[in-house]
Amino acid sequence: MAPLSKTNVVVIGGGPGGTATAIRCAQHGLQVTLIEGAEVSRPHTSETLHPEIEPLLKKLGVRDQVLTANFPQCPGRWIALQGERQFYGFGENKHGPKLGFQVKRSQFDTLLLEQAKAMGVKVLQPCRAIEPLVSRGQVQGLITTAGGIEATYVVDATGRHQWLARKLKLNTTPYSPSLQVEYGYRIGHCPEQDYSPLIASAPGGWVSVAKVQPLRYQWTRLKWFQPSDTPWYPPHLAELLPSDTTHVMDMTWHLINPAAGPGYFLVGDAAAVLDPISSQGVLNAIASGMMAAHLINQQFQQAKLPLSIADRYATWFRTNFYQDLMALQQLYTPILSKVTA
Ligand SMILES: Cc1cc2nc3c(=O)[nH]c(=O)nc-3n(C[C@H](O)[C@H](O)[C@H](O)COP(=O)(O)OP(=O)(O)OC[C@H]3O[C@@H](n4cnc5c(N)ncnc54)[C@H](O)[C@@H]3O)c2cc1C
Repeated sequence: MAPLSKTNVVVIGGGPGGTATAIRCAQHGLQVTLIEGAEVSRPHTSETLHPEIEPLLKKLGVRDQVLTANFPQCPGRWIALQGERQFYGFGENKHGPKLGFQVKRSQFDTLLLEQAKAMGVKVLQPCRAIEPLVSRGQVQGLITTAGGIEATYVVDATGRHQWLARKLKLNTTPYSPSLQVEYGYRIGHCPEQDYSPLIASAPGGWVSVAKVQPLRYQWTRLKWFQPSDTPWYPPHLAELLPSDTTHVMDMTWHLINPAAGPGYFLVGDAAAVLDPISSQGVLNAIASGMMAAHLINQQFQQAKLPLSIADRYATWFRTNFYQDLMALQQLYTPILSKVTA
């Protein structure tokens, strides 16, 4: 085993939560190591980014790169969960409707990771977290496939793998029945899907379809009851050809508590998961990474703070989570009460 290297902050995971944490810590002048388990960023998936992300991207120094990447933009989403379709816009500013981005995640994640490297973050890839180093209840680093790393703070940004929460056996509270999400792609022409994404009722849940590249449509289906094994895709894409396999994952809403403790922070999906209908997963991952970095920097600048930064972060995270949860519950309550009646 290689000897321990030392750093101020070690971040596990190179998704938006991890790279945002790393970039902000490096901008504050901290020494940062980021480890990413996958050899390359995930392929293909396309996601809608809420327009509120733009000022955060500016702070991270990647707004111009995102704008020049020419990702398709849209002013909101159509939602038709109870029959009539309704347009849920992202709001307006003085220039007109606010526009979200429909990004290819591999390209978006690479932009952020490149910015982290440009800011002096030491990136180890591929490199996986194996075991946390914990002494007297304080997380002090971790063992990775590239050796040991000692750090003042360990930030878990492993997404739904929730590596540190599992290792520390932290408390997980579910806030929904078991939910599953599956997604896949169809190739061809479907002009009715060429503009803003549509989220509509589908048997046992909802389905969202968005054009992600010329002639390529991504569909995502959320199911709120036990899934059947029958292969499925949106009927109005039946004429299009299938592409790749269908991916399935658990999407039960849940929160890990506390989201920070002695020597550690959990950011993004590593701390909480809600379903993608809100288009806020990436925004929340970036915002929580930036908040963790801000508090870590405060601690380095000022050893004595009136409140523990872990408590401040955990409270901030929980409050935001409950706000998003309430918005989702409002959206779903009428439908679920109809389905279960
Ligand atoms: C089908 C689907 C559709 C979605 N649509 C949207 C959408 O339209 N808009 C939106 O905002 N959000 C959407 N989301 C949610 C969004 O994908 C997540 O909220 C977001 O990716 C969370 O970012 P993160 O940085 O926390 O985690 P991730 O992006 O998951 O990144 C985690 C990283 O950690 C790495 N990692 C994991 N374990 C280890 C380990 N042991 N060692 C080292 N590295 C490790 C992984 O390889 C990965 O790169 C969707 C999710 C799904 C499943």
